[in-house]
Amino acid sequence: MPDSLAALLTEKGLLFASTNKGKLAEFRRILEVRNIRLLSPDDVNLHLEIEETAGSFSGNAALKAAAWSAASGMPAIADDSGLEVEALGGEPGVNSARFGGEGLNDADRRMLLLEKMRDVPADKRRAHFVCVLALSLSGHEDCEYYFRGAAEGSIAFFESGSGGFGYDPVFLDPETGRTFAELTAAEKDARSHRGAALRKFIEFLEEK
Ligand code: IMP
Repeated sequence: MPDSLAALLTEKGLLFASTNKGKLAEFRRILEVRNIRLLSPDDVNLHLEIEETAGSFSGNAALKAAAWSAASGMPAIADDSGLEVEALGGEPGVNSARFGGEGLNDADRRMLLLEKMRDVPADKRRAHFVCVLALSLSGHEDCEYYFRGAAEGSIAFFESGSGGFGYDPVFLDPETGRTFAELTAAEKDARSHRGAALRKFIEFLEEK
């Protein structure tokens, strides 16, 4: 039996409980500094559809981590994340991936968001990204560990940039004045909600 959690994750591997390619790329980039064997659902040939019914980032992350860990017999980490826009009362929030309903893609959802924000003045366009990671070692539905990160910014008036994924082309980083889709990968990782949550996870592994 490995004598630390980091050693366990190196030996058994850590399953990334999502099929979102944008998130997976960021996980791989940030975790590669650690000796963690991050495996995707494709790597283990496992395919699950988990309904995100918990109504909170942490609840949904726990549902996903526990289900993937139970199905694979491996430690699993899940990311539930989204965009909270102040002028929209926190929407799309936990429903960011489903904003506007079925049948829309990321580009449609960005257009819908810009349309809803059309008449909102520059000083009222504050928004933040939130990411909660849940780590399940046992597949039990109460996940053992959670890590949360946030990124403050605002909603642009139009899309710019071609990097990243999801709402990145409409999310303005206040420090650089650029959208997340215009940042380099390293710049996004240094500022993003996912980067912040993953750094907490890495710190935790170093203490364990
Ligand atoms: P879920 O965590 O699978 O419920 O999906 C979260 C949704 O939030 C994604 O589909 C994206 O639309 C959005 N999202 C989360 N993180 C990011 C990010 O880093 N950039 C852009 N959009 C994001």
